[in-house]
Amino acid sequence: MDSKTENIRHSLAHLLAIAVLKKFPKAKLGIGPVIENGFYYDFKLPRSLAPEDLKEFEKTMRELIKARLNFSGKKITAAEAKKAFRDQPFKLDLIKEFTKDKKGLTIYFTGKTPATIPYSLLTTDYFMDLCRGGHVKNTSEINPEAFALVKIAGAYWRGDEKNPQLQRIYGLAFETKKELEDYLHLLEEAEKRDHKKLGVALKLFMFHETSPGAPYWLPNGMIIMNQLLDFWREEHAKREYHEISSPLVNKKSLWETSGHWDHYKDDMFIADMGKGEIYGVKPMNCPNAMVVFGSDLRSYRDLPLRFSDTDSLHRYERSGTLNGLFRARAFRQDDSHNFVTEEQIGEEYERIFEIADRFYGIFDLKFRYRLGTRPEKFLGDKKTWDSAEKTLVKILDKHAGKGKYDVAEKDGAFYGPKVDIIMKDAIGRDWQMGTIQLDFQQPQRFGLKYTAKDGSAKTPIAIHRVIYGSLERFIGILIEHFAGAFPLWLSPVQAVVLPVSEKFTNYGKELFEKIRDNKIRVEIRDTNETLGKRIREAELQKIPYVLVVGEKEETNGTVNVRHPSLFKERAPGRYLDGEKNIDELIEEMQEEIKNKAI
Ligand SMILES: [Zn+2]
Ligand SMILES: [Zn+2]
Repeated sequence: MDSKTENIRHSLAHLLAIAVLKKFPKAKLGIGPVIENGFYYDFKLPRSLAPEDLKEFEKTMRELIKARLNFSGKKITAAEAKKAFRDQPFKLDLIKEFTKDKKGLTIYFTGKTPATIPYSLLTTDYFMDLCRGGHVKNTSEINPEAFALVKIAGAYWRGDEKNPQLQRIYGLAFETKKELEDYLHLLEEAEKRDHKKLGVALKLFMFHETSPGAPYWLPNGMIIMNQLLDFWREEHAKREYHEISSPLVNKKSLWETSGHWDHYKDDMFIADMGKGEIYGVKPMNCPNAMVVFGSDLRSYRDLPLRFSDTDSLHRYERSGTLNGLFRARAFRQDDSHNFVTEEQIGEEYERIFEIADRFYGIFDLKFRYRLGTRPEKFLGDKKTWDSAEKTLVKILDKHAGKGKYDVAEKDGAFYGPKVDIIMKDAIGRDWQMGTIQLDFQQPQRFGLKYTAKDGSAKTPIAIHRVIYGSLERFIGILIEHFAGAFPLWLSPVQAVVLPVSEKFTNYGKELFEKIRDNKIRVEIRDTNETLGKRIREAELQKIPYVLVVGEKEETNGTVNVRHPSLFKERAPGRYLDGEKNIDELIEEMQEEIKNKAI
């Protein structure tokens, strides 16, 4: 974000404070920072705000913008600040904190600049706020059409539930009206595609309060999960991956060896069984994969040796950060630990990149690589890290091309640098998907060895990699990417037969059985409801093939095919409505499933 946009956003937060104080002179002010796409300001107010209030505040803010008000700053002492903000308990809190941290204090005026430090926040001449700066010089730099107040939410002062609850007003702000409109449109699209809503509507998954953040997979969702896993197994078997499964609960000593106990314990579920028996529920598969490698004699001829798995993982994500399938506490990864020699790193990365191309290509997802370098907390010595990072840069320069990938400083895993795969979805949002991490540490900590060509014992290098990432998260992304209208191969119900009336139920059943016997997931819906209602329902459930049968179809031995609009929009050439021969239809559907067509 450039600083001009930031300055506009933060200045609008001041204008919002003025608008609120004008309506509620006794309002207590919290903080008003810049956030992604806008700003917010927290207030303690005598009553709950309603959407109409936001409209009124917006109007006042537009008037303030048009009044061409100046912003000016002034340094003040703690004593002066305490006096100036004596009626503002939250500002006094901040002053105390800044003084403790020996940070200087500044106040900013919007409007005229008074000669002496005043004792009132708002007069007809100016508004005063405690602030570190980052404003426009004059409100005329703000486009009055390029901001909007969009949301009211509860927020505890300083994010602590022991503190008073405030009302937070969120605003969006951009430099131009078009940017605002584009963003509002994106929000609207995202809302329509929200996987949490669609997940319920399509009966894919659910949550229960007895296990926050841990999804239950319902039959429809499980079909998608299994299809993704089947495809994954098929493709990985071809590439010499060997699937394993390992304990979900492991003694503390395993996590001590791996380094998770020191570096990751706060994010783990811990089970204390008494008598000194402490277990950790696995947040990652790595330590178990190390144990499997170490369980047998290994030679250089076995390398690369790839142990894949899809076990469930649990991470104690903080409740405030949980977000449907996007951030869950229980999930499974399409994991693999590939053990290689140092010389094999480059080639193995190439092979993994090829898998990524294959998988993301299937879903028509555009993606980019991002290199994550050494974090603050890390295992091992800097020299090994430097050389590992250099190796990855070389591989990325070759595969993606110089400058055609991103670098995220200090974003590596604690045991090694990584390459993340960042994807863009149908409405242009970025998502982190797969990750490929280089690890010199864990094989060493677990004392892993293989016999080298010269007969000496050497430590292998591990490459941790996931392609889907978390299956849960990946399905969440697919739901939003396809707006619930999954490609045929993933659709929980691929076709539905709707007899026009009872008279054609027998013909409908005949068709239903024929389609089912051809391994297509099909349902038949009886005639209790009107045909119109059943068609609408099928459309809402995003069933790709809706097959209506009546007099004409029975006579001709055909079906009348209808496709929900989302499918027709996505692939107009393939999804054509109309009468069709049943054998041809089955053949076409099978072809579409086989090709995993979108
Ligand atoms: Zn400010
Ligand atoms: Zn791993």
